Amino acid sequence: MNIITPAQIMAAYNNAKVLCEQAYRAQPVPQKDGSFLSICWISRVDRAYTLLADKDKETQEKLIGPLERDAVKAIAAAEVAVMEYVELCKQGERKPQSPYPPGICDCDECRKKDQSFAIAIAKKLNIQEYVKQAKREALQEMQVAA
Ligand SMILES: [Zn+2]
Repeated sequence: MNIITPAQIMAAYNNAKVLCEQAYRAQPVPQKDGSFLSICWISRVDRAYTLLADKDKETQEKLIGPLERDAVKAIAAAEVAVMEYVELCKQGERKPQSPYPPGICDCDECRKKDQSFAIAIAKKLNIQEYVKQAKREALQEMQVAA
């Protein structure tokens, strides 16, 4: 049986924390005018839908699809890292700390809206479903690699 060291648990925690920050917190997104928008993935996808609201479904899918997939990839990577960390804690008999950023998102878009915004949008985009699917695929890959 493998012995889990505190250093391994700490490394897994740090990895999960960085990936959660990337998935759920504002990232700088360059704009056409050279400025940067500070925005989280979920708001970025939602904003794209708002900006392209008058376009037909096909155009929306073409333009937003890749963005949505990148958002899901970032969120899935974070969730997989969280699961790995929690699993190591279990094996090492340690109590896991939350690697998620505390409080609500403070990006440019989320700040304009109410606190339940990110959750509502996640539901609207059915992002949880995507995440579950991405997690399943990631787990399968890990099992194949292991
Ligand atoms: Zn946000």
